[in-house]
Amino acid sequence: MDINFGSLIKLQKLDEEIKKLSIFLENVPARLAEIDNKIETSFKVVTIAKDKFTHNQKKRRDLEGEVQDQKIKMEKYRKQLSGVKTNIEYTSLLKELAGVERIIGQLEEGIISEMLEADDIENDIKTSEKKANEAKQQLLKEKDVYLQENQANEKEREELQSEREKLIPGIHDDQMSLYLNIFRKNFGIALSPVTDDFCSMCQIRIRPQVINELIAQNSIILCENCGRILYWKSK
Ligand SMILES: [Zn+2]
Repeated sequence: MDINFGSLIKLQKLDEEIKKLSIFLENVPARLAEIDNKIETSFKVVTIAKDKFTHNQKKRRDLEGEVQDQKIKMEKYRKQLSGVKTNIEYTSLLKELAGVERIIGQLEEGIISEMLEADDIENDIKTSEKKANEAKQQLLKEKDVYLQENQANEKEREELQSEREKLIPGIHDDQMSLYLNIFRKNFGIALSPVTDDFCSMCQIRIRPQVINELIAQNSIILCENCGRILYWKSK
């Protein structure tokens, strides 16, 4: 039987390259999702700062509302002041008024501090937004390069596959099914070159008699240890 070792070796090389490209292509969706995730993460800081700003504004409005309440109270005391009849009442109302004024003072201090904080937060928003947008641009560029690479790989795989299709008719059916069988069992490597008297895949020593048969290339010889198709490869 004619054995076309050259074609088998070429088939093996093509299959290895196709496998490598397939692994890359299989990872594409995960890699793209990872890039999108990174973009999203870079905007999380912005969201946090914006939430902080919303919270700050609410707190300020609450404080302003409290000031209004206190002012209404103050107004009420002032009106009462004009109608008091006793000294005790008068003193007690003045005391109440002083208390309200103190509370208003404290609330207004709180408002000022919220306003100052708002300035800081607004700066944070601007800075983080700028950073996130820069990161996004960079990541989108990365994605673009990756997609181009991906396209090139897809094209290359198609070319290799069509090369493979052309090769198959030149390989005897029995040898092809043997190759595929071993290919499946041995993680995509069906052939093993023998150099230095060893099976290069499993490192077992090959008997000299077998080496002679390999050099003669008249039959298919499988490695006794790993079961792969052996072929002689001179150094
Ligand atoms: Zn072996």
